[in-house]
Amino acid sequence: MENIESDLISTELPKAWATSMDTFIAKAKNAEIWDQNGNRFLDFVGGYAVLNTGHLHPTVMSKVQEQLNFFSHSCFAFAPHEKAVELSYQLNRRYPIEEKTKTFLVNSGAEAVENAIKISKHFTKRQNLISFTGGFHGRTHMALGLTGKDVPYKEGFGPFPKEIYHTTYPYVYRGVTTENAIEELDNLLSTKIKPEETAAIIIEPVLGEGGYIPCEKEFIQYLRNICDQNGIILIFDEVQTGFGRTGKMFGAEHFEVEPDIVTLAKGIAGGFPLASVTGKSDIMDSPKESGLGTTFGASPISCSAALGVLEAFDNENILDHSVLQGKVMRQKLDILLEENKYIGDVRGIGPMIGVEIVQNKKNKEPSKDTATKIVLKCKEEGLLLVTCGLDGNVIRFMGPLTTPIDQVEEAMDIFSRAVSSI
Ligand code: PLP
Repeated sequence: MENIESDLISTELPKAWATSMDTFIAKAKNAEIWDQNGNRFLDFVGGYAVLNTGHLHPTVMSKVQEQLNFFSHSCFAFAPHEKAVELSYQLNRRYPIEEKTKTFLVNSGAEAVENAIKISKHFTKRQNLISFTGGFHGRTHMALGLTGKDVPYKEGFGPFPKEIYHTTYPYVYRGVTTENAIEELDNLLSTKIKPEETAAIIIEPVLGEGGYIPCEKEFIQYLRNICDQNGIILIFDEVQTGFGRTGKMFGAEHFEVEPDIVTLAKGIAGGFPLASVTGKSDIMDSPKESGLGTTFGASPISCSAALGVLEAFDNENILDHSVLQGKVMRQKLDILLEENKYIGDVRGIGPMIGVEIVQNKKNKEPSKDTATKIVLKCKEEGLLLVTCGLDGNVIRFMGPLTTPIDQVEEAMDIFSRAVSSI
């Protein structure tokens, strides 16, 4: 086969499948990436918050290599394999839901969300769904309908399921308090839809795509009460917050609230495609036999990788390291917040940190332009970052939680220089 040049991206692939980097990645190790021209980058994108255990973690790789000696695919619904059951067993015990839970393994975050909704509708025999402004739940039709950021995700792709209602996520920096969010939710449930016709509320414990905004604890606790009072299923979408991203294994641990169902993906299998729906057994057992399924879901390769991820977390103090990583970043970023006129807010939990870029601290006008310039400058200097937020003006850090501290410091130095150069 001929050598493929990266400029073929624009002629061979649809332009909607846009890429941030304009060279091909050639190799990667833990928190470092090299492109085809030999340029080295610190990877604070981490395959979009996937590589929590770093690129090619040795334990993950050895589990995958071992599995490849036996078989690569079976379709679980036809020929079950023990890796999927072992992983489900582990997730059922590790995720902080006290009641007995069961797990269904699929391929992607969006597919997990689709199934969490299907199961909730089946169990409650209700149709209405509530999600949040700024929330992101994936790109399939139901997941996209639930998503609360229109451009570029939803524009032109509708109509979406009409039973979906969006309400406000607390966003203290922009003046939306827990009280405001509660008021809007109460209003929705008293004027537009009936609680007793509502199947589920789905929420990210920390908004990811929506701007790295941790939810207010009181709001999540309020949601739990509303759901309990009205028989509504509470779904935590922990696709991005799971597997140590917030400094604890799961985001729910920060809020002292248990959901009824959780969706997990991204960091679950160290870079191999896998996702899960874990939920209370009576809910998960509602759909009838073969009502749930997937051809590639629960891939034995991905399940082996996921067991490797759990082993790495168990043996290597990754959570403690991620908390330290967050502290090192926070120290530097808090100084920048004081000193730099474009940094309006620095927020997050543990190493899941977002920096909101504004025109100036007084008017707080979101500045996507400045955020983009900073990200480009960082890339020139060897640090990979991406933005998020409804206005595209929040720079987020989502590299491996195994990044050595000297590389975290190196990244912070590059970021400081980039911000100061604007
Ligand atoms: N849910 C959340 C919170 C996400 O951040 C994402 C992806 O970014 C998804 C769902 C969709 O996951 P996937 O891209 O694996 O379908």
